[in-house]
Amino acid sequence: MSEYQEKAKECKCCTKHVPLPTTLKVYDNIVMCPTTYYNVIEYKRMWESFGSRPAGSIRKHFSEYVQQIVESSIDKL
Ligand SMILES: [Zn+2]
Repeated sequence: MSEYQEKAKECKCCTKHVPLPTTLKVYDNIVMCPTTYYNVIEYKRMWESFGSRPAGSIRKHFSEYVQQIVESSIDKL
């Protein structure tokens, strides 16, 4: 197993997408791939602009994992 494959295991979504990330990001002490990271940032931005959980038509564009990370960060506010 390559170094990249080892590191990618830290992102919970990365068993599901190809290619594997070559760099990882950290959000709220959670290690994730850049794809997940930027989705988290965008989903959080939308949540804040609506002031509540975005509608299903928006949520469907984000993975369960992304939604879960944002929801747990919002609960802490
Ligand atoms: Zn990933």
